[in-house]
Amino acid sequence: MEATAPEKQTASNTSSTRFVYAFKDGDGKNKKLLGGKGANLCEMTQIGINVPPGFVISTEACLSYLANANHDMPAELMDQVHAEIKALEQATGKGFGDPDNMLLLSVRSGSALSMPGMMDTILNLGLNSATLPGLIKQTGNERFGWDAYRRFIQLFGKVALGIADDKFDKPFEALKQREGAKADIELSADNLREISEVFLEVVKNTTGRPFPEDVYEQLMLSIKAVFNSWSGKRAVDYRREFKITPDMANGTAVNIQTMVFGNMGDDCATGVGFTRNPATGENVMFGEFLVNAQGEDVVAGIRTPKPVHELKNIMPEMYKQLVALRDRLENHYHEVQDYEYTIEKGILFCLQTRNGKMNAAARVRTSVEMVKDELISRQEAIMRVDPEELDQMLHPMLDPNHKALSVVQGLPASPGAASGKIVFDADRAEQAKVKGELVILVREETKPEDIHGFFAAEGVLTSRGGKTSHAAVVARGMGKPCVAGAEGIKVDVEKHIAQVGDIFLHEGDVITIDGGNGHVYLGKIPTVPPKFSDDLRTLLSWADEYAKLKIMTNADTIEAATQAVDYGAMGIGLCRTERMFNAQDRLPIVIDMIIAKDMDARQEALDRLRPIQRNDFKAILKIMSPRPVTIRLLDPPIHEFLPNEKQLEQEIEHLTQLRGAVEGVNDLVNTMQLLKREADVRQMPAPFAPGGRELVDAAIAKKTQMLHKVRELFEVNPMLGHRGVRLGITYPEIYAMQIRAVLEAEAECQKEGFDVHPEIMVPQVCTGQELHWVKDIVDRVKAEVEAEYNVQLNFKFGTMIEVVRACMRAGRLAEIAEFFSFGTNDLTQSTFSFSREDAENKFLPLYETAKILQHNPFEVLDVKGVGRLMEIAVNWGRKTRPDLRVGICGEQGGHPESVRFCHYVGLNYVSCSPHRVPIARIAAAQARLTEKDYSIESIPTSD
Ligand code: PEP
Ligand code: MG
Repeated sequence: MEATAPEKQTASNTSSTRFVYAFKDGDGKNKKLLGGKGANLCEMTQIGINVPPGFVISTEACLSYLANANHDMPAELMDQVHAEIKALEQATGKGFGDPDNMLLLSVRSGSALSMPGMMDTILNLGLNSATLPGLIKQTGNERFGWDAYRRFIQLFGKVALGIADDKFDKPFEALKQREGAKADIELSADNLREISEVFLEVVKNTTGRPFPEDVYEQLMLSIKAVFNSWSGKRAVDYRREFKITPDMANGTAVNIQTMVFGNMGDDCATGVGFTRNPATGENVMFGEFLVNAQGEDVVAGIRTPKPVHELKNIMPEMYKQLVALRDRLENHYHEVQDYEYTIEKGILFCLQTRNGKMNAAARVRTSVEMVKDELISRQEAIMRVDPEELDQMLHPMLDPNHKALSVVQGLPASPGAASGKIVFDADRAEQAKVKGELVILVREETKPEDIHGFFAAEGVLTSRGGKTSHAAVVARGMGKPCVAGAEGIKVDVEKHIAQVGDIFLHEGDVITIDGGNGHVYLGKIPTVPPKFSDDLRTLLSWADEYAKLKIMTNADTIEAATQAVDYGAMGIGLCRTERMFNAQDRLPIVIDMIIAKDMDARQEALDRLRPIQRNDFKAILKIMSPRPVTIRLLDPPIHEFLPNEKQLEQEIEHLTQLRGAVEGVNDLVNTMQLLKREADVRQMPAPFAPGGRELVDAAIAKKTQMLHKVRELFEVNPMLGHRGVRLGITYPEIYAMQIRAVLEAEAECQKEGFDVHPEIMVPQVCTGQELHWVKDIVDRVKAEVEAEYNVQLNFKFGTMIEVVRACMRAGRLAEIAEFFSFGTNDLTQSTFSFSREDAENKFLPLYETAKILQHNPFEVLDVKGVGRLMEIAVNWGRKTRPDLRVGICGEQGGHPESVRFCHYVGLNYVSCSPHRVPIARIAAAQARLTEKDYSIESIPTSD
């Protein structure tokens, strides 16, 4: 159905702005104006789903209200609301505030992006001392009436009047205890009347005013409360954490809807459902319900609800209708829906629907299955996945071979496994996180105000609530493990104790939770990395079909290369050879090479290193065959392979002291011979045995030589000093050895029948002459190796671009280099003049919180500065060499936003760490599919 266009779209001009839209009129696609919930209520109404009638107050009204320093309602808003209430009265045949036939309302928030539980809701609005008797008479159910009333006073008191929860919770709990009632449902009408009266007193005592009786005053205060909740701490924290900008959601709409009741008796129920299982993605009815209850009972986890398939036995006709509703929702929205419903005396109402949040595994599975069900296209399937979320699928699971017995089992509410120290409240979780501790948040149930605890904890365990409780939904959204409703554990948050059987758990005790099956264990259980699902492989293969960028990996070990290939890496974009130098069997040779007194001694060490390097390269080339492997020549300053000066000085001092001791032992040995105890002499450890003095002298000499070298190599700014190609030019024999090792590896692989493609890459280049210098060595060694092995070598030669001057001289460098690889770690360092080593611990956090920088530029590419240099370098380089291959191998290469830029600027590949490869594959496809919408200026980064 066509939507009615708003008469005026701006919130600032209130003179003729339309603020209110009936569900039958509002534009179901305009989530920005009506909020997600409001838009969907309009859409559902208009496609004929049974939605209780109501209307939406727009987000513009909210913004207009919040912009006003006095928080006055925008002019005309309440007039428009009155008019809609009149229309509702007509549609329902009821009267707002009419004691004989009262119209009761719910008031709910809803912004453009779903922020579950982040803002406030009021139910049963319109009850007062006059309408309550009418409600009781009309329903013939005194208990129901008083229950509705006490809920209303409680919610209204909390949300609209700002009264703390515990002012209501404490007397309510006391009443339940007095009556021996475990659940609210066990309380009688008289009990509920009594508590309603107590609540009215609470309101009066706390606010100094009686509870408002005027239904329009109730309505206005509620609308204001919802507006205010947009700028409340919970909502602001949520938006910050999930990076929801005003562009994505600005202000909340208010949904005002006729109440329907799931708590009028045993022919009533309320429930929440997902159109597919949000934990696994399986295409089944999923959800929970409670008979004779109101919606908040399910969501708040106060009573443990029943799985939806049980509805089939209790209310078969309603179950049939629910299945039809679920099918209809999915077929209409072409997306997994998270919906809420109420059954009021045999009539099914849908109260809301929204796109379902789910973990990455479920998102991937539903994406693939919905393509197979022809609900969405492959492109839509790719766009449905947030690349960063895939990280969850790479999270560890419990080692299947573990033998530990679980102490309690709850519901598997959000998969993954985690160990940590128990904390019982969100603040403690946050404090522990700051100290670097891993914690599990353990609660009876969680509430939206616990959100910071979720951010800080490794996982969440609750003793109450179902798979759709707050704890479950939030943890799933964050991809953190959660076990909910573990009723076998008694949690006493105040005393900071939990009890399972006769075991007492205290804060700081370590537990492990498995959100995949709901088990909880004492102590830490080992974990194993998860396996890629077939669905993920399928989705990634579709992504590869759309992506233009190739995804390579940064890997320098066999393990990393193997992992990356499994994750779909199309080659190695950066193999840092220095990491191979650090292995235990090479370091002594590397040190000999560094401290060598002359060329012969250095060459001797290099000759020992070369076969080792060659074998390393061979192994990696073979694993990656037939994919390219970019091997970077030695980059770091060589002093990094030596101990530091202080350490060496100390060692020499100790050795010198040892020499004195050895001399003392020599004296002792002479004496022992006099004492005829030669056998003891033979058992002396090495330094004290004959010749020990020479051994210690040799050690001192070696360490002294190293110390001299360390002092000789000292630099004030080593990262800007004698490293990279500068090192290769001053010690050409080192680069020559590495080049020979690469080319011999290629020759040997060829001979063994492997199709290998090495690429030699030079770091830190800033002039064409530097590159020429190395290229000459490459040409010489190539000719020698080809002659020696009788093969035709086929490798590429290229340069890293990580120095600003290299960007400026890209045209010249491309005369020699066949490829460029942007080393954006160093390029960011040199563009910003921020030290990589220091910035992240010193001023960057403040820069980020103060919004001086939008992101840490070492994580997310600074497209407006570093990116601009890259763009220039790509263009100038390709002017010289049109087929110049260009990639990125800095850490930013695996970040989706950076991948988008790399696609935009025409790179051929991004290279990232192995576990980011799947993320980059999806991001690369998304970059291609959204390329038309991309512009650098629209990116929220620093100016
Ligand atoms: C870079 O500078 O981006 C790079 C990949 O090199 P490294 O981090 O090893 O200096
Ligand atoms: Mg670098």
